[in-house]
Parts: sequence; C-alpha cells; structure tokens
Amino acid sequence: MYTPKIAVIGSINMDLVTTAPRFPAVGETLLGSGFAQFMGGKGANQAVAAARLGAEVALVGAVGDDAFGRELLAGLQEQGVDTAAVKTLANTPTGMANITVAEADNHIIVVSGANFGLTVADIEAQEALIAAADVVLSQLEIPLPCVEAAAALAQKHGKPFILNPAPAQRLPESLLAASSLLTPNAHELAISLGLPEHTAAHDLFAAANHRVVMTCGADGALYYDPQAGLCQQPGFAVQAVDSTGAGDTFNAALAVYWPLGLPQAVRHACAAAALSVTRMGAQGGMPSAAALAAFLA
Ligand code: ADP
Repeated sequence: MYTPKIAVIGSINMDLVTTAPRFPAVGETLLGSGFAQFMGGKGANQAVAAARLGAEVALVGAVGDDAFGRELLAGLQEQGVDTAAVKTLANTPTGMANITVAEADNHIIVVSGANFGLTVADIEAQEALIAAADVVLSQLEIPLPCVEAAAALAQKHGKPFILNPAPAQRLPESLLAASSLLTPNAHELAISLGLPEHTAAHDLFAAANHRVVMTCGADGALYYDPQAGLCQQPGFAVQAVDSTGAGDTFNAALAVYWPLGLPQAVRHACAAAALSVTRMGAQGGMPSAAALAAFLA
C-alpha cells in the first residue's frame, strides 16, 4: 500500500482556553468558569491531521525547554508524528495561544515564542527530510525566511510545496513562484497578493497564476482546472459543531491525497474538513483514512 510521506514545516503551540461568563473590563479580575489546554499551532495541527489520514509525517519546528514543550512533543509522538526535526530551545517559551471564550465570541493572544526561534539554518539542516518527502506543507506562523528556505528546498528536489498562507501577509513574488499551490480563504488570498479585499475570485486566481485552492467555509472550495477553468467543489453537508481546525484538516488532506490529482485531492480535503467540523476542538474531529473513505463511499 502507498503511504505518502509528508514534511510539515511549521508552528507548534499550546492553546490555553479559558471560558468566562463575559470578557473582563480593563484592569478587572473576573472569575472564569472553565479551563482546558489543547495541542495547537497550524504546523502541529496539520501534521496530526495528515498522520490520522495514514501518512508518514515529519514535523520541522521548535518548542521551548519547558513543560508545554515536553507535553507537545509527547502528544505529537503519540499521534504518530516524527518529531526528530523539532528542536528544543533554551530560554525561550514554547509558543502559546491564550484564548478567552465568552459571550459566544473569543479573544486570542498568540505568543510565538520558540516558533520564531526557528532559523533558515534549521530548515537547511533538514534538506534530506524534504528531499525524501512526497509533499512539503507549510504555513506562516514561523519566520518568513524559514518558509522561503523550505520552498526553495522543495523546488530544488522537485517536490510539491503547498503553502497555507495564514495568518495572512503580503507574500514575496519569489515565494509565490516557488509554491506549487496556495490554500487561502478569500481574505487571505487578497492579502497574500496585495490586492483589494473584494477583488473577484477570477482575478485573484489569475494574479496567483491559478496555483490556488481557495477555501469557502460550508461552501467547500474553488480550484482551477486548465480545461474547465474555475471549478467549485461543493461543501459536504454536515452538522457543524466547531469549525476550529477545519482549515488545518483541509490542508493535511490536500497534501495526503495530492497524488490523486487536484480535483480528487480537493474533494477529499473538503470531505475531511467537513468531518472535522462535526466534533469539538481542532484535533477532535480529524478523521482517519477509514472514516474518510466511509464518508465518501
Ligand atoms: P478557514 O477557517 O481557514 O477560513 P474555512 O472556513 O474555509 O477555512 O474551512 C476550510 C474547509 O473546511 C472548507 O473549504 C470546507 O471544505 C470545510 N468546512 C468548513 N466549514 C464547514 C461546514 N460548516 N460544513 C462543511 N464543510 C465545512
């Protein structure tokens, strides 16, 4: 059986989620109603989602030499992710997201910590890992030069490089050129290209040389087919409970099913992401290959 090898170059965070009856005013101390911590960071989430789908996954990233870092490494290994290329940094905290949920809304502060201690030399040291991968997957929660170095190595070895351009920032032309595919939502795509927010999808795709799969929430995703032009993969109708992690599951599935060709990869990605929104938490709903196959049968 073919097992795809995926190299994920990205962030690792501990998500600290506090629930409260309302948001505190400035200077106010409020008693919260609950607390939980979850493994997060787009890199870690996409690595775990790809591993659930049966891929052989290696993650390149960084954590701090602290309790969160150790817990995250153990958690990733438990999910079958190879963490040999995750470095542990002294004197830098593990990345964390401080999330307060109240009034059906949230406030989030992300401290990048060790994620921004990752260097170009760290990425270049993993050239063999990138050369051995079938697909290389990255996001923008690590320093941009690291993403650029990963893209350059993927290109050098003829490997597809999928870039999930989130959180959005204007991308250098060279990175756009080195990426096989971008996987933004409409807002992220406009920012990535430095174009106005409400630019028509057709024009956004043209500006990115059509190497885009644009996610559209419950409406699925748009992709470009050289024969048919802009195509829509409709969303799969599900009972949505929590959309956290849908984008990460989408990216992982796209990488895992890349060898099937873009239309089939996008169909699998939409189905995997739809399954992920039916359960609570970023990683709670990430499907196995068997669950995905059953859903698509
Ligand atoms: P992001 O959170 O990055 O903007 P989206 O909300 O577009 O990402 O979700 C990513 C993918 O997850 C979508 O392309 C779609 O396939 C799937 N998805 C998201 N929300 C739903 C939903 N309510 N029902 C079915 N699929 C969904």
